Amino acid sequence: MGDCVGGQRLRIASVLLPMPLPEAFDYAEPEDMALSVGDQVAVPLGPRLMRGVVSALREGAGGNRPLKPVHARLDDPPLPVSTLAFVEWAARYAADGPGQPLAIALRGLRAPPPRPERVLVVTGKAPARATPARTRVLEAAAREALAGPRLAEAAGVSSGVVKGLVEEGCLRIEERLAERPAPVLDLAPRMERLNAGQAAAAGALNASLDAGGFSATLLDGVTGSGKTEVYLEAAAHALAADPEAQVLILLPEIALTQAVIARVADRFGAPPGEWHSAVPPPRRRMLWEDVAEGRARIVVGARSALFLPFRKLALIVVDEEHDASYKQEEGFIYQGRDLAVARASLEGCAVVLASATPSLESLWNAEQGRYGWLKLGARHGTARLPDIALIDLRQTPPEKNHWLSPPLREAMAATLAAGEQVLLFLNRRGYAPVVLCRACGERLTAPDTDSWLVEHRYTGRLVCHLTGFSMPRPERCPHCGAKDSLVSIGPGVERVEEEARSLFPEATTAIFSSDTISGGQSARELVEAMERGEIDILVATQAAAKGHNFPGLTLVGVVDADLGLRGGDLRAGERTFQLLIQASGRAGRADRPGRALLQTWAPEHAVMRALAAADRDGFVEAEMELRRAASLPPYGRLAAVVLSGPDPGALEAFARQMASVAPNAEGVEIYGPADAPLGLIRGRRRKRFLVRADRRVDLSGYMAAWRARVKPPGPIRVGIDIDPYSFL
Ligand code: ADP
Repeated sequence: MGDCVGGQRLRIASVLLPMPLPEAFDYAEPEDMALSVGDQVAVPLGPRLMRGVVSALREGAGGNRPLKPVHARLDDPPLPVSTLAFVEWAARYAADGPGQPLAIALRGLRAPPPRPERVLVVTGKAPARATPARTRVLEAAAREALAGPRLAEAAGVSSGVVKGLVEEGCLRIEERLAERPAPVLDLAPRMERLNAGQAAAAGALNASLDAGGFSATLLDGVTGSGKTEVYLEAAAHALAADPEAQVLILLPEIALTQAVIARVADRFGAPPGEWHSAVPPPRRRMLWEDVAEGRARIVVGARSALFLPFRKLALIVVDEEHDASYKQEEGFIYQGRDLAVARASLEGCAVVLASATPSLESLWNAEQGRYGWLKLGARHGTARLPDIALIDLRQTPPEKNHWLSPPLREAMAATLAAGEQVLLFLNRRGYAPVVLCRACGERLTAPDTDSWLVEHRYTGRLVCHLTGFSMPRPERCPHCGAKDSLVSIGPGVERVEEEARSLFPEATTAIFSSDTISGGQSARELVEAMERGEIDILVATQAAAKGHNFPGLTLVGVVDADLGLRGGDLRAGERTFQLLIQASGRAGRADRPGRALLQTWAPEHAVMRALAAADRDGFVEAEMELRRAASLPPYGRLAAVVLSGPDPGALEAFARQMASVAPNAEGVEIYGPADAPLGLIRGRRRKRFLVRADRRVDLSGYMAAWRARVKPPGPIRVGIDIDPYSFL
């Protein structure tokens, strides 16, 4: 009974705090509080009170120093135990503390709770003097409790009449929370709507749902084959089977959520909950509460929606599962698709990964039989996939300082003449990616950062896309002071749009990039204008390359097909292939044949050849073979360590120390430390390690053990990135 020495027995609450701490802190549970795991509490931390979540409760003794007591239990709904388990699992996976994923899970609670409304209810007392106006007020109040002004409006009287009735005691003021009833959903099956292939896929998903428990399925079908139709049918099935069931649909980008929200609203007769960073905090809080209390049954959101406090998840859909945007690169580093599978496994529910160009990881899991594999062969109806052809820029280059080659220009002219639409795809924001001084040759970079400034003509500014730094385009070179010496090198979407406008002055052009569409609303307006045929030429980054259906779009021109291959990281080929298939897939839905023209300087490159031959299987096979030979994912595991600090010498010394204490383990190889390609960001120097491990190695555990062996001095930060997507 060592526990009892030195103090009275008490209940100790371990409380997780939403901040980067290695573990939970212990507090004493006040006698009358009767806490449970998952409860949200206020606890003292230094001089402040902080929100936290009870992660464990145990009997114990106070020890030498008495534990501080939990200050209060908060009114907010508790975090479901399964959400808490997921937060802890995610932390272990990322070799990080649980505080950061917890902060994501509690992000919905930043806004204060909705304030109760003051409404008027009838007391039953009859007014001393009954006038028709007073009677109308009392009747209206009996039908529905309304706030004073709305009651006066409903009864068609002045506010004085209402006030008089309150003073006389015939109406009483009551504080009430606005009711948020769960929406009524139309869950009737619509299998008859589906074509044979779609019906077979939906049937298989429904069977997995009926079987219950964890299942993972790859829904693999070309763009337009009806993957969305199929998973919405499965969602309806899951929701109909259990009145408490909830469904989460994840999308890689905010711009894509709008289209899916509209389709969900259309299918189910009520809009889903919407979750992403552009949703205002008060609405996020409402959704958080609706999810925790089971009122929200369908949520459409970006990757962080995975951390919402679902009570009873039945199905998670990861749409466009191959998309690199699922990887969160800052703060808490995680791969949303992988965590979705983990969450489904913890919840014992189904997860569907949908894509026209699945990631090699998911294809491999499907091949190994770990995931189910449902294939949708063709586009729905008579719509055909576009023909993809290469334009060899060595044979037919564009004119100097122009970016559209003669064959692409001819194809654009023919398409426009036929009254059809053109999409020009270039995955580069702004006007020009580099600004150079003709006098001194200097390329302009952001201060304290190894990243070139990108020219944006619409705003007249030079912008660092990495740090967000921006400045007006200067008249003089900041280095040598020469006047009017700055030149813009290379194209971004703004410059290509300028060229398209000058080539086709009659055509209506528009730009679709994260700079021109901020938030859901303007994206939707642009998409709708495109759908209505009001735009002839849309110049777009990847923000528009995915998901949308533009019925009049028959030509996609890829301005620089080689762009993603430069830099050559692990996934360069895979990502380029996926992106260009997606971009090309925008052409020719709705029964009109489409084509895609890819401008390339390297038509013999394996990726270009596979694209032109529409040979996904061949490409995947060749790429898998490369990965297998090098034991790279999915055949092996990778992790990166990024060290950063302001002082190069101290950083170098720490990197060497870190290298010297790396745990010995079989099947693990460590490369580095090396200077990071982006060696300086915001004044901090950066160094990297890359770790490769065999699949059987618990790489997260290894990285956590390594991190525990060092204590970085003051300003040095150690970031661990499991399964890195960025190697910069
Ligand atoms: P994917 O998600 O595979 O890109 P979608 O589900 O978006 O495919 O389908 C592409 C288009 O075809 C959508 O406009 C969709 O409404 C339509 N469509 C697909 N299947 C059917 C179907 N069985 N009946 C009617 N329309 C369909």
